[in-house]
Amino acid sequence: MADFDVIVIGSGPGGYVTAIRAAQLGLKTAIVERTELGGICLNWGCIPTKALLKSGEIYETLDHLKDYGLSVEKRGFDFTAVIQRSRKVAAQLNAGVAFLMKKHKVEVIEGFARLEKGAESPKVIVALAAGGSRTVTAKSVILATGARARIVPALGMEPDGERIWTYREALVPKSAPKTMVVIGSGAIGMEFASFYRALGSEVTVVEMLPRILAVEDEEVSKAAHKAFEKRGIKFRVPASVKKVAKTAKGVSVEIEAGGKAEALEADVCIVAIGIVGNVEDMGLEALGVKIDRTHIVTDDHGGTGVPGLYAIGDVAGPPWLAHKASHEGVHCVEHIAGLKPTNIHSPIPGCTYTNPQVASVGLTEAQAKEQGREPKVGRFPFRVNGKAIAASDTEGFIKVVFDGKTGALIGAHLIGHEVTEMVQGFTLAMTLEATEAELQGTVFPHPTMSEAMHEASLDAYGLVLHI
Ligand SMILES: Cc1cc2nc3c(=O)[nH]c(=O)nc-3n(C[C@H](O)[C@H](O)[C@H](O)COP(=O)(O)OP(=O)(O)OC[C@H]3O[C@@H](n4cnc5c(N)ncnc54)[C@H](O)[C@@H]3O)c2cc1C
Repeated sequence: MADFDVIVIGSGPGGYVTAIRAAQLGLKTAIVERTELGGICLNWGCIPTKALLKSGEIYETLDHLKDYGLSVEKRGFDFTAVIQRSRKVAAQLNAGVAFLMKKHKVEVIEGFARLEKGAESPKVIVALAAGGSRTVTAKSVILATGARARIVPALGMEPDGERIWTYREALVPKSAPKTMVVIGSGAIGMEFASFYRALGSEVTVVEMLPRILAVEDEEVSKAAHKAFEKRGIKFRVPASVKKVAKTAKGVSVEIEAGGKAEALEADVCIVAIGIVGNVEDMGLEALGVKIDRTHIVTDDHGGTGVPGLYAIGDVAGPPWLAHKASHEGVHCVEHIAGLKPTNIHSPIPGCTYTNPQVASVGLTEAQAKEQGREPKVGRFPFRVNGKAIAASDTEGFIKVVFDGKTGALIGAHLIGHEVTEMVQGFTLAMTLEATEAELQGTVFPHPTMSEAMHEASLDAYGLVLHI
C-alpha cells in the first residue's frame, strides 16, 4: 500500500496550493521541498519584488507632493531598510505556508526529490536536507518544481552575485547601484528597472525584440515605453547582447543595435531574459517523461503520460505566473480525486507592477485580427476619469477588444495606476463569457478608476459618455 494518496514535489504557489486542495479533498498528502516553503513566488519572486516596488512608488510620489499641496523637509531612503522590509515580508509569507501545511495536516518532507519507476506511480526518493534519504510512495505524484532564471554562459551572463545579477541577487544587494543595465524587458526586467530607477539608479534596458513588454498589446507597450522614458529609464530596442564582461569598476554589456556596436558600462547588470524549467536530476528521462526544451509536456489535466505522474505550474510551461500554477494544481488534484474541475484553460491575466502598472487578459487587437475575429475596439484614457484626476493618477488608458461577430469580450489591456487591481473584472467577464451588452449594462461605482472599464466597453460601440 502506498504511503500517501498524493505527493507534491515543490512548494511554490503551484505545489502548496495543490497540497492544501488535496488535503481538503480528504487525500493523505505530503509535500517535498528542497529549500524554502512558498517557492520562488513567495521568497524570490512575486512578493518580495512587490515590497520593493511599493518603497519605490512611495519614494517617487514624494517627488510630486506639491501636486497635493504637501511637502517634506528632506527626501531620503535607507537602502538596507528597504531590502530588509522586503525580506521580512517574504519571511512572513514563508511562515504562513508552514502554518497552512500544519493546519491541513500535509506532511512536509525537507529535501531534494528524485523519481524511480514504482508500482502505481513513480517512487519518490528524497535526499533529506537533514542528511540521509527517505523513499516514499503515493497513488499520484505531482511535479511542481518550478523554474529558474535563464542565463547564457557563452555570452558571459553567468551571475557572480556582485556585478552580474539574476532576480535573486537583484532582491538582496548590499547597496543601490548608481548605474545598471537590465537585459530583457519582460515583466521581471521592467519591475527591477522601475524599482532601481525610482531610487535614483541610472537604468538602461536592452531588449532584443522590436518593443518592450512584447507580450502586451502594441499600444500599451508603446505607452509603457514612453512612460518609463519619462521617468528616466533609457532603452536600446531592438538590440542584441553580444557579450557581458566584468570590468575593473563594474560590467560592460556589448550590444548591437541598428547595425552599430556599442558597449554599455555600468556598476551591475541584471539578466532577465526568461526562465528555464527545473527538470534536471530527478530521473525524468528514465521514466520517459516528455520534455519540450525545459518544460514537461502535459495533457489537459496535468498528466505527463507516465501513469500516476502529473506536472503543473512553471515546470509545465508558460505563462510563468503564480496564479496559473495554483489554478493548474487545483484542477489537477480535483481531477485525480474524480471531480469535474473547472476549465484548466480559463483566461489568465498577466500583470507588470511597474510605475505605471500594466495588466492584460485575453487577445491583443493584433491577435484578434490574425484569428479573423473582426475586433471591435474601445479605449478610455484615465486623464478624463474623475477619480484619477482627484488622485493625480491620470497616466494611461484601458483598451478592450470584443469579437466583432459575437460581441464576446476577448481581450482587455490596461496601463495606469493600480490597473493590476482592475484586470480581474475583465477576467471574470471573460470567464463568464460576457458580451458587450453585459459590460455596458454593469453599474460601476463612482468615483473609481474602474469606470474607465465601463467607458472603454461603451467606446467600442460608439457609446462613450465622457469624451
Ligand atoms: C522576480 C520575479 C517576480 C515575479 N513576479 C510575479 C508576479 O508578480 N506575479 C506572478 O504571477 N508571477 C510572478 N513571478 C513568477 C512566479 O514566481 C512563478 O510563476 C511561480 O513561482 C511558479 O510557481 P511554481 O509553484 O510552479 O514554482 P516555484 O515557485 O518555482 O516553486 C517550485 C519549488 O520547487 C522546489 N523544487 C524544485 N525541484 C525540487 C526537487 N527536485 N525536490 C524538492 N523541491 C524541489 C523549489 O525549491 C521551489 O521551491 C515572478 C518571478 C520572479 C522570478
